[in-house]
Formats: sequence, structure tokens, C-alpha cells
Amino acid sequence: MAAIKIFLLFGRSGCGKGTQAKLLAEKYTLPVYGSGSLLRERAAKDDFSGRKLKEFLLRGVLAPTSLIYKEWANKFDVFKEDPSFVGMIIDGSPRKWIEAELLSQAFEWYEWPDSYCILLDISRPEAENRLAKRRICKSCKNIIPYTSESKVLEKCDKCGGELGRRPDDTDEAIKERMEYFEKEVVPMIEYYRQRKQLIVVNGEQAIDKVFADIVEAVENKS
Ligand SMILES: [Zn+2]
Repeated sequence: MAAIKIFLLFGRSGCGKGTQAKLLAEKYTLPVYGSGSLLRERAAKDDFSGRKLKEFLLRGVLAPTSLIYKEWANKFDVFKEDPSFVGMIIDGSPRKWIEAELLSQAFEWYEWPDSYCILLDISRPEAENRLAKRRICKSCKNIIPYTSESKVLEKCDKCGGELGRRPDDTDEAIKERMEYFEKEVVPMIEYYRQRKQLIVVNGEQAIDKVFADIVEAVENKS
């Protein structure tokens, strides 16, 4: 039986998690699961939590850990029964120390020992710069990250639409995301470091170099 591979990607906003998740998904033929889609699925159910969550999502308020992890546990039970399940890339989780601990407990319970906890390391000034300069297509809502490859784009590379700043990338919102990282994500990184599970990759390199470093670290570990 092939080992179940699970990837967790984290780092400051703008570190390129989404891009690297897609590349990993292709290379290892794995699905990407995000806590965002999990929550949207849950919000569609018409009960107390469903209705409250729907409102939270509309207002952009973070959902509580207890609710998200109940959904993850339900998902993991389904995966465990699925003989075609070979692993996954988790996007948007964990967001803080307690969630990392819950995921570790879950992976132990489901007997999935091979998880790769990858920090895409970019400095705070680099993250702020990328967020301030990333753009969104006004027509198809495609997000254009700020990279050496995409910064020269004048129109959307998917539909040719006009590009603008993301409405939620205000200076205030960027500052808040940076502070969240220091307060919540840094202790989580320390948690994985102490468990000797942390893989640190320099996220300030070109996309293909970042990806090559991730693959190298993964192959060395397995
Ligand atoms: Zn577009």
C-alpha cells in the first residue's frame, strides 16, 4: 500500500501557498482541500451553525476552530473509508497552534504518519510588498499574485479583463494579517519545529525554485 501523503503549507499572506499547492497537487496527483470550501459546504446546511456560519463568511469573520475541526474530522472519516484515497494538500489550515495540535492528533488517529509541514518563508516587508501589489481581474476575479513572472501583466491572463487592487488588500487589512501571523502562526511554526516536523523553504525565490526546494525536502524525508 502506498503511503498516504499529506501536505500542510503555511507562511505569511502572499507567500505563494496557493501556487505551490497547485504544483504539488499536479506532481503527486493529490486533491487540494481548503477549510474555506469545507466551511462553505457547511454553511449551505439550514441549521443554527449553518445560518450563523453563512453570516460569518459574508462578513469575512474567521470561523471558530471547534467548528472547522468537526468538519475536517467528518471529511477524514470519509477519506479513511475510500480505498482510492492517497493523500491531500490542505490549504488554509492550520491557522494557529491549537489547530496544528488537533491536526497532529487526527493524523495519529487515522494512522497517517507522513505529513509534510512546509513553511514558505518570506519576510514581513516582502509579504507587505506582494500584498500591496497583487491584483485581481475585475471580470473573472482571477487573482494575479505579485511575482517576477506576473508583475508585467497588464490584462488578466485568463480572460483579458482589466486588473485592479483587491478590495480586501487595504493597508489596514494587510497590517492585520501581518499581526495575525506574528501572534498565531509563529507559535504554530515553533510547535512543528519542536516536533522536528518543520520544513522551511525560502519563499522569496522564483516559483519553480521554491517548488524544486519543496520537492527535494519531501524526497529526502521519505
Ligand atoms: Zn480575468
